[in-house]
Amino acid sequence: MPEGDTIYRAAATLHRALAGQPVVRFESVFPALTRVHDDHPLTAMLVAKVESIGKHILMHFSGGLVLRTHMRMHGSWHIYRPGERWRQRAGNMRVLVATSIFEAVGFSIPVAEFIKARDLEKHKVLARLGPDALGTSFDRAEAVRRLRTQPSSPVGEALLNQRLLAGLGNVLKSEVLFSCGINPFVSIATLDDHRLTDVVDTGRRLLQVNVGVSKTRLSNYSGQRRTTGRDNPNERLWVYGRGRLPCRRCGTPIEVKKHGPDARLTYWCPACQTS
Ligand SMILES: [Zn+2]
Repeated sequence: MPEGDTIYRAAATLHRALAGQPVVRFESVFPALTRVHDDHPLTAMLVAKVESIGKHILMHFSGGLVLRTHMRMHGSWHIYRPGERWRQRAGNMRVLVATSIFEAVGFSIPVAEFIKARDLEKHKVLARLGPDALGTSFDRAEAVRRLRTQPSSPVGEALLNQRLLAGLGNVLKSEVLFSCGINPFVSIATLDDHRLTDVVDTGRRLLQVNVGVSKTRLSNYSGQRRTTGRDNPNERLWVYGRGRLPCRRCGTPIEVKKHGPDARLTYWCPACQTS
């Protein structure tokens, strides 16, 4: 699943490509979207701005309409010049928003809906998101407070719960906990406020570091994400994807385990992450 940094970059790139331009074409395979377009044609509107909240991308149109998309595991937004050959099959197209300069194509995106801008705050999913780790007005104390509402939850699972803290995905979860020296399977209750705040701050910092990596392609970036600060492509991550390889700090073999409701892989160093 793309992490918040990927989504943030995707939204920023879409914003640069589309904002301020009139929509010249809109297509979707989702009938609920084309129905809205039939009633209120997007081709009469401008793209006002594109932003991310947690892992959701919100494309705002003039006239108070917002397109919310969520990529889940396999979705991606690409940007093309009109007439440029797509890098994915046309059959994977779910949503297309074109201006006269660029066309933005959402491939394999499972979640897409129109929302009225005035209804965003009470939206059933968006309203329940935890503090956005990449948001400009990030509320760290609120993130800690929300994590504390799940005292028996293993910290590795709690960090993926977007209602507690929005933005972290599976790769950075393992990297954050390595950086903090915390075993992913200890419960939230065993961590004092100082350590839990350190986890939240580290998550925000690693997301922010990775937002800086700019590329024109908007699909999954996990291969290029970096937490070690090292430039060598083979040394970018501390533990994620390194099962049985020696820990970069102490040489102990990295452990890996399927974890949580979606059986996602968790990586950790049993010697460096002891609490
Ligand atoms: Zn180690």
